[in-house]
Amino acid sequence: MGTETADVIVVGAGIMGVSTAYHLARLGVRRVVVLERDTVCSGSTALASGGIRHQYANRLGIELTTHSIVTYERFRDEFGVDPNFRQHGYLILIATEEQLAVSRRSVALQRELGVAVELLDAEATRKLCPYLRTDDLLGATYTPRDGYADPYLATTAIAARARDMGVVVHQGCEVRTFTRAGDRVTGVVTDAGTLEAPAVVIATGAWSGVVGKLAGVDIPVVPHRRHKFITAPFPEDRIPAETPFVIDQHQGASLRREGAGLLLGGGRRDEPASFSTDVDRTIEPRVIERAVHRAPALAEARLMRGWAGLYEMTPDQTGIVSAMPGIAGLYVIAGFSGHGFMHGPIAGQLMAELIVHGRSVTMDAVPLDIARFARGQAHVEPLTFV
Ligand SMILES: Cc1cc2nc3c(=O)[nH]c(=O)nc-3n(C[C@H](O)[C@H](O)[C@H](O)COP(=O)(O)OP(=O)(O)OC[C@H]3O[C@@H](n4cnc5c(N)ncnc54)[C@H](O)[C@@H]3O)c2cc1C
Repeated sequence: MGTETADVIVVGAGIMGVSTAYHLARLGVRRVVVLERDTVCSGSTALASGGIRHQYANRLGIELTTHSIVTYERFRDEFGVDPNFRQHGYLILIATEEQLAVSRRSVALQRELGVAVELLDAEATRKLCPYLRTDDLLGATYTPRDGYADPYLATTAIAARARDMGVVVHQGCEVRTFTRAGDRVTGVVTDAGTLEAPAVVIATGAWSGVVGKLAGVDIPVVPHRRHKFITAPFPEDRIPAETPFVIDQHQGASLRREGAGLLLGGGRRDEPASFSTDVDRTIEPRVIERAVHRAPALAEARLMRGWAGLYEMTPDQTGIVSAMPGIAGLYVIAGFSGHGFMHGPIAGQLMAELIVHGRSVTMDAVPLDIARFARGQAHVEPLTFV
């Protein structure tokens, strides 16, 4: 690389980095360079379940989805690739009075914001998904427009379109440190040379805390390992192909169709922060037990393989799209705490707007500002499932 110059450097090519680069190009920024130490979509985005849902308790999460879902719905028109968005709905199960109270409030807010959502009792939940055990449930919330898309197809397609628009993507290029002139960022040093730019965006997912340290700033993002398991082919007359993405929040488990098999989620809430993505086989029996409890037909299913990826957790389980206070030209888009795939389209747009216009335009990005932590204004979003 030697020494190059750019208008904006984006560090990291997951959904956040490529979405930011694409929107910068759309806003007319000419020299956007993305630096990725591995390959496009090789971090958490590649390991995600692809879930896209409106079901949040706070206005922010709902509005981020409202803005992002249209991109996934019209993805082929914009990016020329079908991201396999299956709008089979999201079903979040309610097992306790406390969850029911949160659901009532969340449903009211979601409706106020124009989301089609139903609060089902246990009987209606069983009617919708007859394979679910519901005798220990109070009901569920159901959003039929939600579903899941393929994160790899989507992210690589956004990267390809960004390249078509002039964005340069350097893969196999790790950022080692940042260069500064006083309180202004001036570029980065990579293992392949230096790159100068007046604006640098940290979009390094679960590694953002570590990368922030390289720039001398504190980004409160820590890694949290999360597992997924996939079953061998399972008959569709037992669990239909169009079944919703089911979140069993009480048991800390999830279930959706993935082709001929089922994708099961689970993990430990008390998992210590670490960058390990080794599969912890000891959790398998618990994942199976919970899945079979909720969908007894799965007693006949066989687990085929599992993987683990990293959630990028912030203290309030909400993302950061922000200028870095105290260092002019340094920005961060990270920390979406396990729900960044769905919010990638709007988050990248807001990041690009902040850089180009100095403020967000499409929706209010102030609640995503990093200064909220220092101000003590960080409120945990209840409908996140760690
Ligand atoms: C098991 C699992 C299931 C999930 N399910 C969902 C879901 O259903 N719905 C949803 O919305 N979200 C889900 N998520 C969360 C989602 O994956 C993340 O929120 C999102 O992918 C974060 O994107 P990102 O671009 O910030 O990070 P990443 O995709 O991790 O990208 C960061 C990139 O930065 C690169 N990088 C790091 N350090 C450097 C460096 N020094 N120099 C250059 N490059 C560097 C990395 O190689 C990586 O490619 C899930 C996550 C996991 C792990």
